Amino acid sequence: MAGSGASPNSHSSLSSQPTAESRAALLKRAARAAIDYLDGEDVRPVAPSANAVAALKALQGPLPPGPTSPEAVLRLLDEYGSPATVAKTSGRYFGFVNGGCLPAALAASWLVSAWDQNAAFYVQSPTAITLEDVALEWVREMLGLPAGTSGAVVTGATMANFSALAAARHRLLERVGWDVEADGLFGAPPITVVVGEEAHSSLIKALGLLGLGRKRVVRVPVDAQGRMRADALPPLDAQTILCLQAGNVNSGSFDPAADLCPAARQAGAWIHVDGAFGLWAAVSPAYRKLTSGFELADSWATDGHKWPNIGYDCGIVLVRDPSALRAAMSIEAAYLLQGDRREPSHYNPELSRRARGVELWAGLRSLGWSGMAAIVERTSSHARRFAEGLRAAGFEVLNEVVINQVLVSFGSPEHTLGTIARLQANGACWCGGTVWQGRTAMRISVSSWATTKDDVERSLAAMIKAAREQGPPA
Ligand SMILES: *Cc1c(COP(=O)(O)O)cnc(C)c1O
Repeated sequence: MAGSGASPNSHSSLSSQPTAESRAALLKRAARAAIDYLDGEDVRPVAPSANAVAALKALQGPLPPGPTSPEAVLRLLDEYGSPATVAKTSGRYFGFVNGGCLPAALAASWLVSAWDQNAAFYVQSPTAITLEDVALEWVREMLGLPAGTSGAVVTGATMANFSALAAARHRLLERVGWDVEADGLFGAPPITVVVGEEAHSSLIKALGLLGLGRKRVVRVPVDAQGRMRADALPPLDAQTILCLQAGNVNSGSFDPAADLCPAARQAGAWIHVDGAFGLWAAVSPAYRKLTSGFELADSWATDGHKWPNIGYDCGIVLVRDPSALRAAMSIEAAYLLQGDRREPSHYNPELSRRARGVELWAGLRSLGWSGMAAIVERTSSHARRFAEGLRAAGFEVLNEVVINQVLVSFGSPEHTLGTIARLQANGACWCGGTVWQGRTAMRISVSSWATTKDDVERSLAAMIKAAREQGPPA
């Protein structure tokens, strides 16, 4: 209980449980604040003002010795927290590759927080585990992956890459009689890891976490769109992990899986696909051909929080032979349940975890096949409109706009960086900078379900204005 340092007040509030009535009032107030926040998205600048960020001071400082009422805590959050957020829900946020959050996924997230389920084992939450099972099967079908493929919902594609590569590491070393989970990597037979020059930095980080080495990789040259060159692929064998990419984080391009996978399979290599957002193109008949061949892989990493707009944190790892993932992830403690069913704990790096599968289930259920296809098609069409509008204004688009990603140069690196800073400060929309094959560029990622044609035209006008105000391109 409260120590001698606590004030008498704090002691009394600690011992008095909130009534059901005051809890209901608090939650209604929180819902009201959330709804007001969302309703304000049209007037709020996308990037918060410097004043709003400075005012976060009110939330800093040491932990008070005694309690604060939940109502006051909520008021602090809304008064100081809300204004200093980045307004990602507006449909005019094009930073990184960030989706929005579908209303059904948001509502499910509220409910699942109230349920407070621990989704480690079925016995802890039949609802959470059942919905995760169903959602994983839906994702497998939507991405066109082989029957029997399974995995888990994890925090993001970084952990999905990590988990899939742990399964690969297990299987390849098991083949040569090495138990990597028991004995580690010291003295183990070598594994070759082959990646494209344009592999995502999170995949490289995952290799480091697994002891496979960030630098200890064979890098395959790429073409002008960032696609792995099939003619430059090194010889592969059964001790090789080949990492392909579906959806380059800058250009949106896809490695030529249909050219690469048959030979890699023949050689016995483990093929892993980082398809954080791009793999979802498989859902649209118009874009599906971009993903052809990726179904031949052994493992896949993708995100629910990017193109499907599920809200954070929602990564998905899928493995053709789930027993390899289980061997890498199961904690095998005697006191924990064993059995036939897919216990999430045995298929992901965590034990206690949020019931993330519930939001994934809710978001996908609300979309259906056609809703997901519509997001892919609509955001890609918005991206084409951005490219066309920027070209018409005299700026250079650096990539073939195959899906939802656009890279634009406004002139010299300084001019492009200056334009990005001006655009971000203006607050009409938000885009970040990147370097694409040695060129400084602004990246436009249209990933939110909420982006409308009007958002695109407003944002396009703001981009062109920012570039012109920056002066003539040097
Ligand atoms: C975003 C992204 C990642 C990392 O995903 P997180 O969910 O942020 O961990 C990995 N690979 C690619 C291609 C990505 O676009």
